[in-house]
Amino acid sequence: MVFDFSGNLDLPQLEESVLRYWAEHDVVDRYLAHRPDGRPWVTYEGPPTVNGKPALHHVFTSVYKDVYPRFQTMRGRRVERRGGWDCQGLPVEIAVERNLGLRSKQEIVEHGVEAFTRACQEYATGNIGEFRRTLSRYGYWVDFDRAYRTMDDSYVESVWWHLKEMWDKGLVFEGEKVLPYCFRCGTALSSHELAQPGVYRDREDRSAFVAFPLLDGSAELVAWTTTPWTLPANVAVAVEPDREYGVYAGPDGRKLVLAVSRAAQVVEGEPERVLRGSDLVGRRYTRPYADDIAGAEGVVVGWDGVSDDTGSGLVHLAPAFGEDDAKVCAEAGLPSPNPVDEKGEFTSGPYAGTNVLEAVPRVLADLAERGLLVREHGYTHSYPHCWRCATPLLYWAKPTWYIGTARVKDRFVEENEQVTWHPAHIKHGRFGNWLENNVDWALARDRYWGTPLPVWRCANGHDTCVGSRSELAEHAGRDLAGLSLHRPAVDDIAFPCPDCDRTAHRVQPVCDVWLDSGCMPAAQQGYPATPGSTLRDAYPADFICEAIDQTRGWFYSMLVVNTLTHGSAPYRNVVCLGHLVDDDGRKMSKSLGNVIDPQETLNRFGADGVRWYFFNSGAPWGSRRVSLTSIDQRVGKDLGTLWNVVHFYRRYADLAGFVPGDGAFEPEQVLDRWLVSRLNALVESVTEDLEGYQAHLAAQSIAAFVDDLSNWYIRRGRRRYWSTGETDRGAFATLHLVLARLARLMAPFVPFVAEAIHHAITPAGEGGVRPDSVHFDDWPVAGPRDLGLERDMDTARRATSLLRAARTKAELSVRQPLAQGVVVGLPALPADFQEIVREEVNIRSLAMGDEVTLPVGHLVQPNWRRLGPRYRQLMKELGEAVRTLEADAVGKLRAGSAVTLAVAGQEVTIEPDDVSFQEEVETGWTAVADGGAGAAIDTTLDEGLLAEFRTRRLIRTIQVARRDLGLDIQERVLLWLDDTALASGEEIAREVLAVEVHPLSALPPADGEPYRGEGFALRPASGR
Ligand SMILES: [Zn+2]
Ligand SMILES: [Zn+2]
Repeated sequence: MVFDFSGNLDLPQLEESVLRYWAEHDVVDRYLAHRPDGRPWVTYEGPPTVNGKPALHHVFTSVYKDVYPRFQTMRGRRVERRGGWDCQGLPVEIAVERNLGLRSKQEIVEHGVEAFTRACQEYATGNIGEFRRTLSRYGYWVDFDRAYRTMDDSYVESVWWHLKEMWDKGLVFEGEKVLPYCFRCGTALSSHELAQPGVYRDREDRSAFVAFPLLDGSAELVAWTTTPWTLPANVAVAVEPDREYGVYAGPDGRKLVLAVSRAAQVVEGEPERVLRGSDLVGRRYTRPYADDIAGAEGVVVGWDGVSDDTGSGLVHLAPAFGEDDAKVCAEAGLPSPNPVDEKGEFTSGPYAGTNVLEAVPRVLADLAERGLLVREHGYTHSYPHCWRCATPLLYWAKPTWYIGTARVKDRFVEENEQVTWHPAHIKHGRFGNWLENNVDWALARDRYWGTPLPVWRCANGHDTCVGSRSELAEHAGRDLAGLSLHRPAVDDIAFPCPDCDRTAHRVQPVCDVWLDSGCMPAAQQGYPATPGSTLRDAYPADFICEAIDQTRGWFYSMLVVNTLTHGSAPYRNVVCLGHLVDDDGRKMSKSLGNVIDPQETLNRFGADGVRWYFFNSGAPWGSRRVSLTSIDQRVGKDLGTLWNVVHFYRRYADLAGFVPGDGAFEPEQVLDRWLVSRLNALVESVTEDLEGYQAHLAAQSIAAFVDDLSNWYIRRGRRRYWSTGETDRGAFATLHLVLARLARLMAPFVPFVAEAIHHAITPAGEGGVRPDSVHFDDWPVAGPRDLGLERDMDTARRATSLLRAARTKAELSVRQPLAQGVVVGLPALPADFQEIVREEVNIRSLAMGDEVTLPVGHLVQPNWRRLGPRYRQLMKELGEAVRTLEADAVGKLRAGSAVTLAVAGQEVTIEPDDVSFQEEVETGWTAVADGGAGAAIDTTLDEGLLAEFRTRRLIRTIQVARRDLGLDIQERVLLWLDDTALASGEEIAREVLAVEVHPLSALPPADGEPYRGEGFALRPASGR
């Protein structure tokens, strides 16, 4: 046998030997090439970003990405399982900047872009190893040797192809827009990046009510801002045309204009004058900061978007620093001064060279000095931060590249209709809403390590989009084989503009890293430039799976890119996983110190322990609580129990010399037939659940089956595996059949344990196990079920638990046999099931069925409050008559009818309300009831029952003595019994494997050194 099955389940140790076996027999590689002729079943690997080390949530995602492909492979489908790594983008750049001690883009340029991107490549490559090791050790079987890497030139070239496809449809363009911008990273963020978790956090800023003096000197407009650094770019103040504004008396005789509804924020008292917003529109005021672009004057504009919840009812507009500001000012034909550069510093004016956020105190001080600061206060608000470096984002206008997704969003909505989401509410909820509110995809990043945007531009502004390396070579007029498609090599390629006589150079940006992962269905093959690449049988995916936040990430980028290039959604089923949280429901984070290291869980529980926990702790889309204790409990309860059954089978099959036959096996005994039917039910439900992407339900069913197998089937049938008589082949064959199927059912969930069971149940020396790995086996097909039998067994178990409860209530030892038991409220059972119940609860006879009643009597008491006034003179006789009513009269009264009695010669009619009932269990019985059913046991113990109890107890004591002596379970003994036990000598001898029984009085004084117990002595028979 390959594995050690002798001890308790030690998963980490067992898995090491399974890993050795897989390595020696090349199991993983053979698995990946398995079923070459099967009908394809397609899955895509959502590439993890390889910065840092793999975390437990990577394991969580991986086991769900693993279980369905394994299931489909066993069903005969050809599943290409190609790994993938997301190697480019800001996450990698930031880590490398940190490693190299670089603090800005300027320092990257000084360090050298080539050296920097090389360092990024090395960093990504270096991390792949660690990810691969950890995920493989967890039994995640994907082809890592052929894994796609988004940084490979063939991949980048395919991303170019996708962009060119969209370019040709007119969907890629450059435009100036106000975007959230990270000044540390020096790049804009897209709307889906802004929707990442953790982006919005509370931030305390200084906000100000600022005066904008009207040119005619009549009054000052008061507007509120939380970003005082934007005031140098102010060109307008917005009012709501239909709203009421008041002119208020301010300090020092000033006249302040505020919305009537908001004035209390700044001034007290009533307005001196009330105007409509429309009266103010067109009035001109002095800008806080004059400049060459917008001059010295600003203008009041009308806008319906003025908030009534905050501020003064007047809004300061700086079109370079706000999306709405830009829109309103553009409509009013106003200029847009932008005095801030890509480093987040002022380029002109009094604060030139200062970071905008650092300039805020100076701005406020200047305004105060000039008498323009009406009021200032701290303000805490939810504010977006860079999801990678946590720097506060600033809204900033700059020309950037877009994919025009908003104008074609209906196509995404349409394609989403073809997708099945798990859980279902994602489709029209989280994801559907996101699609409905689609905005153009800000595509460009002003960075270094990413897919270079393949657009070349000449000095006349002609743009050429390049879709492949060969196209670029054609433009350049030279062979570019071997050219790195990364920065800076690709930046050095220039070519004559096809539209004029100037030279075209590549535009600076690289592409959003989400574009890379969105292109993966085709790009993983280097499609279409790589010879042999094809989407046939490889598109769309039948299944993909990632964490739920990918609705704004990978799920989104995949749908957009592929709908626009291949014309359809790239996936049919999407499983969205929830987040891992600790036992208190808190998100795992380094700062809270509640992060669980996947290596630690591996060392303690093995891969399968963690896998099993992830499958069997609730629906995967909810938040998943993880603690070492909860994993431990789950593993012990299910896998530990199963392991004991396997161990039991192996041990007794060896003792009995049982070898499973090749042919079909039909169980005959009732427990065997039940277990096989129950197994077929399990095969049906697990198959259905895995087809429906409900692995957690399948795992729950398996756990329930293991419990039935161990705590009912084995428990009831234990003696059939170990007797001195003939081997019960049916028992062994049934258990073998069930364990063999169970190994296959569990293979997708716990690949190590399933492999071990697969080998455990085939004896050694048989020419090896076929197939040599459970993972090459076929998925089991459900056989016929016997529903009547399953129902009867459920009834038997229900009856058993009721009778057991009655025993517990009577405080009787389970070894004490009882004469009889009664079960009511359950259908009568066939004789063989009744025997199972009798044996389990140790009673000699059992009554159940419709005509059986609990041994309960009804005590009837007269209700004198009603009877007294009517039969005052008959009280004594009537009381006696009521208490001794016949059963059928009691039945009538309980059923609500009156009865008539003759009492002392007088006819008396008794209504149901004239009496009350008390139920009482008859003496000598103990009864319990539960949900319409009930049971009672006869607790009377006669001499025969007591004697049997003594015999059972003695057998038990002798068994313990055998164990204490270290006797093998097969070893025969000689036995001496005292006189009271001798009567049951034969039964005792059979149970304890005694070949001879003698009276204790006949124990020869010098007969070796026998073991002496109370009322018996024994000695190994072989010692004679
Ligand atoms: Zn940043
Ligand atoms: Zn040109």
